[in-house]
Amino acid sequence: MNTLTPMILNAKAISMNLDDTENDIVTVSCMCCAATFEGFSESQANDCASEYDPETRELTGYYGSTLIDLETHFVSPKIDMPHAIGNVCDPCIAKMMKNDGLILISAF
Ligand SMILES: [Zn+2]
Repeated sequence: MNTLTPMILNAKAISMNLDDTENDIVTVSCMCCAATFEGFSESQANDCASEYDPETRELTGYYGSTLIDLETHFVSPKIDMPHAIGNVCDPCIAKMMKNDGLILISAF
């Protein structure tokens, strides 16, 4: 190991970075608080598996969300949401619930 030249070490570090972003680890981030979660799919992670649609203000939870799994909620206009489609994490959903910001529309 101590025979590696600095240049080789550098190349190794770069290839390790590529591995992190392209292979095993998928990161799902909350668009409200920017927290990141290690995902089991591109848009689902434990505690961050809900998608928000700005057109309808609907928030739908999927497997991974501990709070609204398989439920669709309307997000009250009093909750300030980004105008974008994206994931929302459970801690942010808990905050919305606490502020009476979610209205259950349907449960699958
Ligand atoms: Zn969040």
